[in-house]
This record gives sequence, structure tokens and C-alpha cells, in this order.
Amino acid sequence: MSELKDFIDQEYLDNLIKENRKPSKNEVLEVLKKGEEKKGLSVEDVFVLLQNDDEELKDEMFSLALKIKEEIYGNRLVIFAPLYVTNECGNICAYCGFRADNRDLHRRTLTLDEIKEEVKILEDQGHKRILMVYGEHPQFKVDWIKETILAAYSVKSGNGEIRRINVNSAPMSVEDFKILKSSGIGTYQCFQETYHRKTYEKVHIGGKKRDYLYRLYSLDRAQEAGIDDVAMGVLFGLYDYRFEVMALIQHALHLEEVFGVGPHTISFPRIEPALGAPLSEHPPFEIKDEDFKKIVAILRIAVPYTGLILTTRETASFRRELFKLGVSQISAGSRTYPGAYHDALTNKPDMQQFTIGDTRSLDEVIYDIATHGYIPSFCTSCYRSGRTGENFMKEAKGEHIHTFCQPNALLTFTEYLEDYASEKTKEVGYKLVEDEVLRMEDSPLKKKFIEKLGKTKEGKRDLYF
Ligand code: SAM
Ligand code: SF4
Repeated sequence: MSELKDFIDQEYLDNLIKENRKPSKNEVLEVLKKGEEKKGLSVEDVFVLLQNDDEELKDEMFSLALKIKEEIYGNRLVIFAPLYVTNECGNICAYCGFRADNRDLHRRTLTLDEIKEEVKILEDQGHKRILMVYGEHPQFKVDWIKETILAAYSVKSGNGEIRRINVNSAPMSVEDFKILKSSGIGTYQCFQETYHRKTYEKVHIGGKKRDYLYRLYSLDRAQEAGIDDVAMGVLFGLYDYRFEVMALIQHALHLEEVFGVGPHTISFPRIEPALGAPLSEHPPFEIKDEDFKKIVAILRIAVPYTGLILTTRETASFRRELFKLGVSQISAGSRTYPGAYHDALTNKPDMQQFTIGDTRSLDEVIYDIATHGYIPSFCTSCYRSGRTGENFMKEAKGEHIHTFCQPNALLTFTEYLEDYASEKTKEVGYKLVEDEVLRMEDSPLKKKFIEKLGKTKEGKRDLYF
């Protein structure tokens, strides 16, 4: 690749923040009107929303985020679980407990058999989608990462199987990304952590991750290698959140410009206290709950067709508030260190990567969200039907996707209810499915869906559109 350019306009974004101009009521209303069209927002539009202090207008913004979410994602929430494969790492990131200089951390890399055991436990809970997470160490070559993914895909326990594996690992070369793609992954995920270059260089103290531009172009290389569902993210708390949100938009626009498609998903973890990482105890730019809600709503309006992922770092009650602002995917029942699912079964002490806010089991989370009217979806059909990257975005923007997503969500939820749910979850779950079926308009698709639903209840699995 020729000389890389920082496509984040550092100076421009910092100047906007320094000037700190407050928008007029009309300016905010104009941006909200533009947002309603669901065509996305510019960096300048996003800045207007970030700067708005008017409570009434903020409520209008929250309502618009909910409206967009309902129109595009309905009442579905896609469910996944992380699977930590290794916490060995050669980097020193100031905020992370896996940092190379943390001598107190018990280091562990799972063997292929141990990975299979973790996957079996997740399948027995009902999971169908996992995110495999890796520390960054020179000893981990892509061929080994591929082996770990194939090992996970190979596990079939009862009716259980993992149908989509997403990956969060160190960035690679295009050649290595091609090998990663050949293991059948769904999304490749890499968080820039902070887009503010000076801060980036300060908090990445040692190791390969210090190279800001190499990481910034990781999703370009993944795309070049043919991985067309890529995911970005910011670790909120390292720098001014307004800078980070605008930079996320610049990154999304860059991908759209170069590859014709923006990110598949965006994650927005807040720094949580991690053992052996003092910075994580007192993040330099701690994000208040109110500001976090603003971040989620603004992203929902600015990139309407990009999935927004919320992890168990946040508490159960706060997660519920964020569902209403645009979150479309959540992790549930998460454990965040290698071997953690096995340890939980054998009552071994907990050694999480960071403090977890929502520690409930998958079934408890499903029960809770179903009670609140959300359909938990374990669907993986887009990726297996070739609806990825640009194809996915075309269908999503035509809102055609909605037609598939709702029945697919209900079919996978019914699989969960049949195979794994507790009695109380079954009770609310089947009622929810029934209500949704009644609400569906009559159409040939509905007829086919009812057939598939019947077959699922009779024991057939993996029926989708
Ligand atoms: N080593 C790979 C990397 O850094 O990209 C992937 C694994 S790393 C554990 C995955 C993510 O965990 C990081 O991208 C970072 O955003 C997040 N993380 C690290 N420390 C954290 C903390 N204290 N609180 C919340 N998230 C954290
Ligand atoms: Fe290693 Fe990733 Fe943690 Fe940094 S964030 S120390 S690269 S595991």
C-alpha cells in the first residue's frame, strides 16, 4: 500500500470542539428532519446534535432514534456471546488487563479441545452466534486462528450448532485476511479505541498496536481480502466523546467511499475497571450515562443501516434504556476470559477481562427482553444467503430485509424456546411469537412462514428465508 493518509481530520474535529459553538433550535430541527429520511448524516450534522443542550430537542432526538430503530429493525434484538480464546498479548494498552506487562494475570490460550468444550457449553445454552476474541501475540499466526474457528464450527451438541462466528483479533495483512475469510467468518471486528492520534499514541505504550495508521486501515485490508462485513468501534473514555463520534462517522464515510459499503456494525464500549490497568479505574474522559445515551441515539440517526452492538459491560437496567435508542445487537450470558464458560459450570473463581455490568444468564436475559416485547433473534441467514456487504446494504436500504428478518427472528426464537428455554421464558416467549404472527399481514410469505414455524415446532431445525 502506498503512503497511508489519516482520513480522520484531526485538526478540523479538534477545532470544532475547541470553538464549542452551540447550535440554534432551528439548526437542530433541520438536522432531525434530515435524519428522518434515513439517509445518514454528515460530520457537521452530527456535531450539531452533539452540541445541543436543549432538553426538549434532546427528547425529540431520542424519539427519532427510536422511530428509525423500529422502522428498520422492528422489535428484534440479535443475540450473541463472546468466546475468549487467548489472553496472551504482546501489546501494552493502558486500559486493558491483558497488557503484556501485567504480571498478575493468569495467561491462558485454549487448546482446540478446550475451545470445543467452551462452544459446547454455549450451544447447550442456546447460542448460535459467537464472537471469538484473541489477544495479539506474535506466536498467533492466522493459520492457527483459522484452526480455532474451524474447531468451533465443528461442534454440534444436540440440536445446537454455531452458525456464525465473528472475530475480534489484531489487524492483519491482506494475505492473512484472505486466510481468515476462508475459515467462514461472518464479521471481522477491530476497534480503533480512540481516533484521536495523540491520545492513541499515549495510551498504546508498547507492541505492534502502537501503529495508529496500520490499525486505522485494518478494515480496508479486510475488505480488500473479500471480508465484506466489517465492524468498527471506539473505547469510550479515552478522549472527548464528541471527537470520537464524529471520527466514527468519518471512518464510515471513508469505507463507503472506497468500498461502496459502510461498517456492518459499530460497538461503543465504555472503559470498565480491569485488573492491572490503572487507567481503566479512572478513565481520562469518563462518559456519563446521559452522554452515553446521546451517543447511541446520534449513531442510530447518523448511520441508520449499521447495526449497533451493546455488550454486557453495561448494567441490565441501563441496557433496557439503550434498546429504546437504537441498539440492535446484544451479548448475553457473557464471560470474558479464556475458559470462563467451563469455570462458571465448575464454580471456579471469576477472572473477567473487565467488570461486567450484566451478569445474568442467557435465559434470564431472554426472559427479560421478551417480557419487554423484544424478539430475541439468533438469526444468521443473511450471511449464509450471500446477503453481506454491499448486497446486504442494498437490501437493507430498500427495507426489503425487514421482510426476512422478522420471520427469521421468530423461527430462531422458536428453536430457542423448544430446545433451551426455562418454563417461565417459554410462557412469555410463545405468547410473543403468537402476537407477532397475528400482527403479520397476510401474504404468500406469511403462509410459507407459518409452514416453517409448524415444522420447527415438530423438530425441524435451521429453516430460514
Ligand atoms: N487484542 C485485540 C485488539 O486489541 O484489538 C482484540 C481483543 S481486545 C481484548 C478487544 C477489545 O476489548 C478492545 O478492542 C478494547 O476496546 C476492549 N477493552 C480492552 N480493555 C477494556 C476495558 N478496560 N474496558 C472495556 N473494554 C476494554
Ligand atoms: Fe492486548 Fe487487545 Fe488488550 Fe491491547 S486491548 S492489551 S492488544 S488484548
